[in-house]
This record gives sequence, structure tokens and C-alpha cells, in this order.
Amino acid sequence: MKPFTIGILALQGCIDPHRPHVEALDIKFKEVKTAKHLEEVDAYILPGGESTTMLRLIKIFGLKEILAMEFAKKPVWGICAGAILMASKVTNPKQESFSLLDFEIERNSYGGQLQSTEIDIKDYPVSFIRAPIINKVSDDIEVVSKYKNTPVWLKTPQYMVTTFHPELTKTYPSQMHKEFGELIAAYYEKG
Ligand code: GLN
Repeated sequence: MKPFTIGILALQGCIDPHRPHVEALDIKFKEVKTAKHLEEVDAYILPGGESTTMLRLIKIFGLKEILAMEFAKKPVWGICAGAILMASKVTNPKQESFSLLDFEIERNSYGGQLQSTEIDIKDYPVSFIRAPIINKVSDDIEVVSKYKNTPVWLKTPQYMVTTFHPELTKTYPSQMHKEFGELIAAYYEKG
């Protein structure tokens, strides 16, 4: 079988650290910057970074509609700023999003102590970097992990959301990349 290809939206943010995690799963890693890259991609990572800047660049490069169409039919994993792009409602301040699944997110909201911190999730060290808080999740979304009583990892058969960064830890692949790889395989197996 042809290996899957994960396309990472490479307009801004934390991009290259994902490469060794993805390649450790025997999945191809492709940086996506223009619409012509999209055809070869089976699934997307929306990286951490600054969601406001990403949105601005998506608009400047005219990618909004084509990305919305791609995200509707392929698996997507959003990390931190990427999670903000996937939410159905964004606050602090209000911001546009792709509204891929039904949850609300508040930007930059753990405050000082969580501006940046490292914890273990499923025995894998992950980093919170100016992370948003997920404060409402629809019943059909699985909450995989919580931290400080708030959801930090969400899953559906097509989508994954983490408000933390696993890619900065240098043990490959991370538990989260592994589970996203499994999600992609299961998604295409069902056809
Ligand atoms: N604070 C950023 C935002 O609001 C997200 C931070 C991150 O992706 N690590 O977009």
C-alpha cells in the first residue's frame, strides 16, 4: 500500500519539529504552502504558532475556501493555534475559525503559570506554550485527556485537537503522532 502523506500547513509556526515524528511512523511529511500541494495530502496538521497570523496569511494567499473543502473530507489535527483554527467559537478576543468541530476555545487563557510548562500525558512529555483553554465540548467529541480540569486533547473519527505541543519532545514518534497515524489509517479503512 502507498504510504500516507501528512501535509502540515506551513505558513507560520512550529513546523519542522513534526517531521521526525511523522517519518518515524513511515508516513510522508509535506509542507503545504499553496493550493497545488493539496492533492497529494491525505491528512493535515495545523501547527502551533499564532492563530491570528495564520488566518491573515490564509486570507492573503487566498487559501480559505480550498482549505475548508480539504478539511471537510480529510483527517485534521490542530495543535494549540491549530486547535484555535478548528474550533466552532473563539474568544479572548473573538476570531474567525474553520469550525470543524463543535467546541469553544479561549485564547491565551491559562495565565502566567501556564504561559509555558511541561507535563506528561499518557507518559509522554508535552509542552503548553501560551495555550488556549477549551471550555465547552459537544457530547459527540471524545475528551481523551484533561489537565487542571479542562480538556486538552479531543478526538473524533476524523479530527484531533491538542492544546499542547508534543512535537518538541525528541523521542519519536510521540504518543499523539502515533494516535493520529492510527486515526488516519482507520479513517481510510472505513472508506
Ligand atoms: N497563543 C497562540 C494563539 O492564540 C497559540 C499558542 C501556540 O500555538 N503555542 O494563537
